Amino acid sequence: MEQKRLVEKDPKLNKDDLIVIGGGGGFIGGALARYFRNKGFTRIRAADKKPLPEWYQRVPGVECLNLDLSVEANCVRLCEGAVEVYNLAADMGGMGFIERFRVECLRSVLINTHMIEAANRAGARRYFFSSSACAYNTLLQKDPKVRALKESDAYPAMAERGYGWEKLISEMFCEEYWAERGMKTAIARFHNVYGPWGTWDGGREKAPAAICRKVIAAIDAGKQTISIWGDGLQTRSFMYIDDCVKGIDMIMHTDALIATAINLGTSELVSINELVSKVERIAGIKLKREYDLTAPRGVAGRNSDNTFIKEMLHWEPDTPLDTGLRATYKWIKTQYLAKKAGKRVVD
Ligand code: NAD
Repeated sequence: MEQKRLVEKDPKLNKDDLIVIGGGGGFIGGALARYFRNKGFTRIRAADKKPLPEWYQRVPGVECLNLDLSVEANCVRLCEGAVEVYNLAADMGGMGFIERFRVECLRSVLINTHMIEAANRAGARRYFFSSSACAYNTLLQKDPKVRALKESDAYPAMAERGYGWEKLISEMFCEEYWAERGMKTAIARFHNVYGPWGTWDGGREKAPAAICRKVIAAIDAGKQTISIWGDGLQTRSFMYIDDCVKGIDMIMHTDALIATAINLGTSELVSINELVSKVERIAGIKLKREYDLTAPRGVAGRNSDNTFIKEMLHWEPDTPLDTGLRATYKWIKTQYLAKKAGKRVVD
């Protein structure tokens, strides 16, 4: 019989307690560093394998380290003295990346394996793992009018090959570090996150950023067409970055959610065609759609069932897609024009 652990109350988290963020040079890790900095935390240490000039955000006052976290010694270095550890590092991207580079996705298991062990040895109080909706059984996602996925739908398992299976096994590490070793772990299954300071070109970008960029590029080139991956009927929900970091904070600090995977996403289901129409409205243009049926398209439909998060947190991500897309479009346009002019805009 499995023994349930007693949950001891944490001492208060002080503003000078060390917060560690793996993948701090990436989209969500960078936003999380900014979020904690804005909340007044004075000791934040972030690491990423990307060289510092390539980080999406370099938040003033945050210690930024260039470390490959698939190497154990680097995780030990990063976690030294940490009170809380957030692992946002993974080799990942949109469908174009995760369908093509399964080995790279699987190898992220090294990052979490070393990070969670290093966090535990350093005596960290809490550990956060960024899982994904790709951990869900793909057989439940064959219809664009999909039933929203609830947490129990991950098992029996038939996750996205590569990326999704890595997430499932890393989730299990989090469950067992709590069950066997008593470290408080948190696991959020993100559903498509988008917003400023996210990947918007280069092959790892996800649908909202890719569509914004394509519309901006079409306008810039005076083109009347846009190329869409798949038939445009695939459906998804998209969560704005501000909701994501707020959700991470809430999930990490809710004892009832220790070692329990939970959805973090919106339940506003839209098709890719609808997403294109929204971006077109923001840009004030209407483009002719060309569907690339040979391109990666992912599962037919995926939505987040938010029953559990609403029950646990009395909250769910609630930034309307139109609002978030407007801010994202504006930011990508600035980046696009700067890149065209041979400059790089970091902030
Ligand atoms: P991102 O690619 O912007 O950030 C990930 C960062 O990890 C990158 O900066 C990358 O350089 C870094 N990284 C990769 N391998 C590393 C290594 N060996 N050592 C150190 N750093 C390494 O992606 P993101 O959108 O910020 O995603 C953060 C986390 O959230 C990931 O675990 C991802 O799987 C998960 N997630 C994201 C989404 C989304 O829509 N963005 C959806 C589901 C899950």
